Amino acid sequence: MTTNFSVKSLLASNTNVDLDDSMKTKLALRRLGYYKTPSYGMTSYPDAQLFVAVGDLQADKGMRRTGEIRPGDDTEKAIRMALDATSPNVLDNPAKSGKYIWRTRGDGKVRSKHAERDGKVFDWDNPPEGGHPGEAPNCRCWAEDVTDKKGACARLKLQLEVDGSNLDAAKTRFNIHDTRVNEQSIKLEANRKQKAKLATEARVYYSGASIEALIRRRLNPGAPADLVRILAAYGELELEYVRCP
Ligand SMILES: [Zn+2]
Repeated sequence: MTTNFSVKSLLASNTNVDLDDSMKTKLALRRLGYYKTPSYGMTSYPDAQLFVAVGDLQADKGMRRTGEIRPGDDTEKAIRMALDATSPNVLDNPAKSGKYIWRTRGDGKVRSKHAERDGKVFDWDNPPEGGHPGEAPNCRCWAEDVTDKKGACARLKLQLEVDGSNLDAAKTRFNIHDTRVNEQSIKLEANRKQKAKLATEARVYYSGASIEALIRRRLNPGAPADLVRILAAYGELELEYVRCP
C-alpha cells in the first residue's frame, strides 16, 4: 500500500513526542523490521526501543545515527522510501524467475484478456501475449510470486499471532466493551471471506489509499486514533493473509 509517512513534530528521546507521530513511526518501523512489538503490546508512548529502531534504520541507510526524526528531514524521507519499496506487501515481490500467478485488481476496468488470466500460473521466462502483468499500457495487474509464497505466508501467520495479541491488549486498554466501538470491530473481525470482500472493496474504492481510511469510515467517529491504527495494521496483515493458500 502506498504510504505517506511523515511526522508532525520533532521525534526525539529528549523532547515531548507527539503520540500520533510515535505510534505511526512504530508501525512503520515494525513493518520495515526495525521495531519489534514489546511483550506488553504496542502503545503510542515513545520507548527506548523506538529511538534505537530509528537509529538502526539511519545506520542501515548510511546516515548519521541520531535516533531522531524531524518533519521533512532525510530520515523521514528514508522511511517513506523504504515503505514504498515494500509496497504493496510481501506477497507482491516476484523473484522474476520461476513461476507466478497472474492477479488482476478484480474490478470492471480489467481488460477481458487479463481477466481470463486471473489466478492462472505463468512463467517469467515465457511471457504470455502482451507481456507480464503490469507491462501492457495502463495494466494494473500484478504478479503473485509462487516460489516464496510458502515462506511469506508462514511469516505472515507469525506476525498475525503477534499482532492479534497486540490487538487484544489494545482492546482491553481502550475498554472496547464500549458497545458502539464493539459492534463495529466485530464486523472488522468477521470471517475470512468477509475480509477478502473487504480487501477487494478497499482496493477498488481506496485504490492506493491506506486501509486505515476504510477502517476510519467503519468505526464510530469517537474511536481512539491509536485503536484505529492498530486495527489498520492488523487489517493490512489479514488482507495479505487471505491470499495465502
Ligand atoms: Zn492487466
